[in-house]
Amino acid sequence: MNHPARQVAEEIEWMAGMGMEFLDLTLEPPAAASWRVDAHAIREALERHGMEVVGHTAYYLPMGSAFEEVRRACVAELRRCLEVFSIAGARWMNLHADRHAPMHERRFYIEQNLRTFQELLPDARRLGVGLMIENLPGSYNTARQLGELLDPLPELGLHLDIGHANLEVAHNTTEEILGAYGARLRHVHLHDNRGGSSDLHLPLGCGNLELRRHIRALQRSGYDGTITLEVFTPDKHFLAYSRDVLRQLWDEEATSRSRAEARSDPQPAGRT
Ligand SMILES: [Zn+2]
Repeated sequence: MNHPARQVAEEIEWMAGMGMEFLDLTLEPPAAASWRVDAHAIREALERHGMEVVGHTAYYLPMGSAFEEVRRACVAELRRCLEVFSIAGARWMNLHADRHAPMHERRFYIEQNLRTFQELLPDARRLGVGLMIENLPGSYNTARQLGELLDPLPELGLHLDIGHANLEVAHNTTEEILGAYGARLRHVHLHDNRGGSSDLHLPLGCGNLELRRHIRALQRSGYDGTITLEVFTPDKHFLAYSRDVLRQLWDEEATSRSRAEARSDPQPAGRT
C-alpha cells in the first residue's frame, strides 16, 4: 500500500523494485488524494512494471453521518475514487463502514452506511469497479456484525483484514467470517498485532497472529487472490521479510493440501 503522504509514482517505483505484484492504491490526502493523483499516469506506471491494482479508500470517511449533507459529500468523494480506480485499472474498491453518529442507535448508522453503498452501486457497475466491505475492530468484526451490511446487498464483496480480525475479540474471527461469507471474498489484508485494541500493523511474525491457521482457512475457502501486506514500518526489509514468510507458508500449505487430496482420492489423477 502506498503511503498517503508520498507521491504515488515514487511509491510504485520502490514496490516494483521489490518485485511486488500489485499496488493497494489508497486514495487519501495529503499526497494521494483522489483529486490530486494522476490516474492515467498510475495506470501507465503499473503497466510498465506488469503490476495490478486494487482500490482502497480512506478509513475515516463519514459515510454513516447523521448530517445528511456530510454523508452526501462522502458519496461524491467515493464516486471520484471509483472514477480514479476505473482509469487506474482496479476491479474492486474497499469501503470502511462508519460508526460515528453519537446519540444514535446502531440501526441508524447501519442504514446510513447502506444508503451510501446503494447510491454508489450504479456508478460502480457503470465503471466496472465492485464494492467490498472491510472488517473493522469494534463494530464490524464478526460474521453477525458484517452481515448487517452484507446481507441486504448481495452485490457487495467481502474484504477480509486478518489483522483486524484479531482485535477487540475473544478469538480471531477470520474462520468465522470466512465460514459465513468466504464465497464473497475479493481481497485480503494481512499484518500482525498482539490482540487487544492496538492496530499495530506489524511485520508478520512480530505479534500473536496464528498465520498458518489463517492461511489454511483462506485456502479452505477456495481463495487464491490478492493479499496486501499492510505492514507499516519505515524499514522496507520488514515488508520483504513478511512477503517471504507469506509465500513460504502459502506454498507449504498448498502442497500439503494437494497431497492430502491425492491420498483421499481413490482414482489416481489422469485415469478415467
Ligand atoms: Zn486493512
